[in-house]
Amino acid sequence: MPATEQQIEQLLCDLVRIDSVTPWLIPGGAAEANVQQFIADWMADLPGVETWTEEVAPGRPNLFAKLPGTGGGPTLMLNSHADTVGYANWRERALVPERRGENLIGLGAADDKSSCAIGMLALRSLVERGVRLKGDLIVATTVDEEGASIGTIHMLERHRPDAILVLEPEGLDRIVVEHQGFGWVDIIVHGRAAHGSDPDMGIDAIAYMGEVLAGLAELDATGFGRGEGGLSGRTVYHTSTIRGGTDYATYPSSCVLGIEIGTQPGEHLSDRIAEIEAIFARIRERHPDFRGEVREQINRNPFMPTGYEPLFDAIVAAAEPVLGYRPVAAGLNAWGDSGLCGEAGIPTLCYGVLGGNYHAPDEWVSMPEMVAAVTIVENAIERFCGVA
Ligand SMILES: [Zn+2]
Repeated sequence: MPATEQQIEQLLCDLVRIDSVTPWLIPGGAAEANVQQFIADWMADLPGVETWTEEVAPGRPNLFAKLPGTGGGPTLMLNSHADTVGYANWRERALVPERRGENLIGLGAADDKSSCAIGMLALRSLVERGVRLKGDLIVATTVDEEGASIGTIHMLERHRPDAILVLEPEGLDRIVVEHQGFGWVDIIVHGRAAHGSDPDMGIDAIAYMGEVLAGLAELDATGFGRGEGGLSGRTVYHTSTIRGGTDYATYPSSCVLGIEIGTQPGEHLSDRIAEIEAIFARIRERHPDFRGEVREQINRNPFMPTGYEPLFDAIVAAAEPVLGYRPVAAGLNAWGDSGLCGEAGIPTLCYGVLGGNYHAPDEWVSMPEMVAAVTIVENAIERFCGVA
């Protein structure tokens, strides 16, 4: 029996109520163990389904549920993430799901507990209908996607399914076949500390960082950060953090600027870093005592999967009768764990329901899309893995 809208909403509300803030992003965050336990308990009564956890970090397990196939078909993994971002801006309401018109409001209602629920409900329906798949189905809920992706990195070191469907809420009308990457980069300007009344000794690192900032703004206006018209849109570049100096009376000996840079499919972060080093060279022509340095903190490459066509075709064929139209291949101006799966050489796509206000108060998900998604994903699994 396919789940009713009421049952789907009930499950999603249960998931939203369980705090699973990623502690990588918000120190002291609740982490994922409780929500993973809830999901495991929810699946415990499904005959033939094996569930287990793999500890990624203390109190932070990935959870797997496997419906073994009869053989002769490809293994498909559904991958959604069990963690959420923090909720300081709407503390009283974030974990209290609320139905508003066609939408359900709550932290993670879309990103990504909608996807956890879709995987759980599709698996339950396949089992209850007695469908015997040829290939194995693995429903994985991983940790830390909103942090450093240690959950999916850990999973990819231990599992190699024939394809991965990363469930993320992008809307059922599009199947994400590429998305941008990103880098977190520190720009460090080294100065020289000196008594505030000794300008010949002091080298003002903060003032020099001002020149770097002007150079970055100029780059941005003249082409840096412009995507070349790919599916994934405009590359993002923005400043994030800045610190420097010790006190009013002293020339600052260093200034550190943190920035985020998006990279488009086909681009590398090193291309962007070379552009920053060219700014340094121009500043040095005017100020020979300028010293700058770029330190790469995190680099996540863009998502450019290959070999995904059989999964793509399965989703389109499953979706068309439900939606009344065919979802199209699309890019995404953001990054997800799909980037790591694609980079591991596994045919990967990213798909999910319509939602909004991600990482912000009043995050919402479309309940009509939730209902449609469960049927679509269930049918796409049958098409991809094959039915015995
Ligand atoms: Zn997400």
